Amino acid sequence: MKKPLLSLVVPFYNEEESIEQFFPRVGSALRSIESVDYEIVCINDGSKDATLLKLFEVARSDPKVHVVDLSRNFGKEAALTAGLNEALGDIVVPFDADLQDPPEVIAELVAKWQEGYDVVVAKRIDRASDTFLKRSSAAAFYRLHNKLSDVKIPENVGDFRLITREVVEALKLMPESRRFMKGLFAWVGYRTATVTYTRESRVAGKTKFSAWKLWNFALEGLTSFGTLPLRVWLYLGLAVAMLSLVYAGILVARTLILGIDVPGYASLITAILFLGGIQLIGIGIIGEYIGRIYVESKQRPIYLIRQKFRSSTPDKLDA
Ligand code: UDP
Ligand code: MG
Repeated sequence: MKKPLLSLVVPFYNEEESIEQFFPRVGSALRSIESVDYEIVCINDGSKDATLLKLFEVARSDPKVHVVDLSRNFGKEAALTAGLNEALGDIVVPFDADLQDPPEVIAELVAKWQEGYDVVVAKRIDRASDTFLKRSSAAAFYRLHNKLSDVKIPENVGDFRLITREVVEALKLMPESRRFMKGLFAWVGYRTATVTYTRESRVAGKTKFSAWKLWNFALEGLTSFGTLPLRVWLYLGLAVAMLSLVYAGILVARTLILGIDVPGYASLITAILFLGGIQLIGIGIIGEYIGRIYVESKQRPIYLIRQKFRSSTPDKLDA
């Protein structure tokens, strides 16, 4: 009988230093899972270093390794989307190139899948390898996101997980071009199990996500899956209007009783500045959503592929 095929989907962006350790370690972890065959789908997300050349080299000698080269850097979410679209497996595992997630955990994901789950998420129990700032900001993000949004993202679960072909096809049905994968994964649902693991440090190189990129990523997540940030202005406006009515009443009564009282510069300027600030925040949030509508309405492709190859067509390698 034919074994089910596992596709490992790996985005690579300037990962030349990780590659040497990546393939031997991942290869042996995957070979040890006897119940499945595997392929490794590598997406080169517009790397500026020797990543692509090194991937070619590996793919040339290993028919299980496939390379998809994007036309430029589209970001991890787009690269993952490309990988999910290219993967042929019955089950698919998105995986980072830096070995922060131990490949040995994949066997546990597969074992859980064999119990009949459609999704097996890998949850980090120990994020000691991340900085304090990253851990606490991530925790704050999950809390805020899950308060604001109907789609709950499980805390400390990244893209590392196992999903079945059915789930991959469900993900392909989502047309949006700005893809917040953690949210999309949560949105599709399906029967989900959890496996826990300890996240390690990068084997080589540096993280590709600066604080600024992470902040934008968080905004992306918050605006992708709910409209509460838009609606909250209605209630805030109502509250401020009510308070001003009460305050106006107090002022009228005081003027009638005590006469006109001119000084009031401090309270005036405070009210003007405070309300001005609140309005600007509101406009900013509306702008964020309008920006998203604008981007989505253009209906551009999520990524462009410059070239693809599998070692069955080795002549393309020299291109
Ligand atoms: N990555 C990518 N495109 C990008 C940024 C990152 O394909 O624009 C890949 C990167 O090569 C790695 C994975 O996404 O395989 C996770 O990146 P990283 O380890 O830098 O993120 P962190 O673990 O620090 O959150
Ligand atoms: Mg990493």
